[in-house]
Amino acid sequence: MSIVQWRHHMDKREFYIEALRRKLYKDAMWTYATFAVTEDSVEYGAFYPTRKEDGYYFKDDNGNEIKIDDATDIAKPLINWRDELIVNIGDLENITADDTVTTYGRFFVNAASIVYAFGKKIPFVNKNFTPGYIEGILVKNFADEPQFGETYKEDMFYPSERVKFNDAVQHIARYNTIFVPGVSERTILPPPGIQEFRAQLMEKNKGRLDDPVVIAQMEKELIAFDAKYLEGDRSSEGFLIGGSDKRIVRKRLFLTFGGLSGFNENGRVDYVPQALVEGIQLDHMPEYNNDTRQGSYGRGVGTQLGGADVKRTLRATNNLEIIEDDCGVTHGIKYTVSDKDQAKFENLYYIVKGSPVLFGPGDAEKLNGKTVEFRIPGYCKTEGTGFCKKCCGELLSIHPHGLSDVAASVGNVIMGISMSAMHGKESKTEVYDIMSLIS
Ligand SMILES: [Zn+2]
Repeated sequence: MSIVQWRHHMDKREFYIEALRRKLYKDAMWTYATFAVTEDSVEYGAFYPTRKEDGYYFKDDNGNEIKIDDATDIAKPLINWRDELIVNIGDLENITADDTVTTYGRFFVNAASIVYAFGKKIPFVNKNFTPGYIEGILVKNFADEPQFGETYKEDMFYPSERVKFNDAVQHIARYNTIFVPGVSERTILPPPGIQEFRAQLMEKNKGRLDDPVVIAQMEKELIAFDAKYLEGDRSSEGFLIGGSDKRIVRKRLFLTFGGLSGFNENGRVDYVPQALVEGIQLDHMPEYNNDTRQGSYGRGVGTQLGGADVKRTLRATNNLEIIEDDCGVTHGIKYTVSDKDQAKFENLYYIVKGSPVLFGPGDAEKLNGKTVEFRIPGYCKTEGTGFCKKCCGELLSIHPHGLSDVAASVGNVIMGISMSAMHGKESKTEVYDIMSLIS
């Protein structure tokens, strides 16, 4: 490597681009020293920022100390990842246009994951993205690892690159302590006025506070009140607070403990208005205990039930497989298709004049309101323990020996519901479309 002679001045931007070109994102010490205010300034090597009284400095390859001109405020990190950064072709392998306006953070993520794993094969991604977004690009041109004598192609992606990308993403995730806000004032406080608002709602619904529908409506209004309080807060930047944190955790902690189903057999609920932050209500001890019982005991029993169910179904269905293309059955089960049913029916077959027709993309809209007869495994005429492709649909046919797994997933659902019960529940109302259940 040639030793580059740097000027005695440099700005943040130049420093940053050169450091990332040197792959310093791999180094936790460099990353912390760059994006956070660190206690001391240990000199680890070239291009490590150090804090001095009048600003940030670093050393070049020859050990010359260089001042970073526009970094004089040592109370702040050298780089704020949200700040705008303008980059040009050559600043990073995958940048395709000069004067690309991005942020320091996106530049980091591109360098440390995309360019690290794929070089310039994937153009600079100038937006928030998840690993799933990159996977979507990979699947379009994915090839097996080259065999002996073959070479890697520039327009294809390979398993080894995918593994490298995975490692890179895991690595970046470790930096969450400096990149992800951990707390904000509003996330640790109840919305002001919540108790008064709750009292109003209770007054309005007096005499009906054991009705789960009323409680669900009240909780909805309280959650909306809280959502308004959190609006625009930095906790809403996508990471810190998700939907269930608002609907379950914050609700119980700050808004109202809520309606609890105890041993009532009439569908009524016990209502505990006070949120946990207001203290445990001694006169509601039975309700708290019932709720805990339902969470922990119920989780145990439900998990056991679901687990046993999975095992039983696996044993019962172990030998089932798809062994032929079409058993020729001419009847199935009738269903009135609605335009919301695309995912439900896609890749199944329905019967038109006795013959199977594939339910393809867009068909839910096309068949909206029509009653269609679907082929189902239950009516399959294939001999023995086998089934046919047309009765099982295209999706199941990808793995002809995998039917047992699919059957067992019923038990998985039971298990999932019981296990998640411990994490608190949400009371809400759903619109019940009775027609969709009659066909
Ligand atoms: Zn069949």
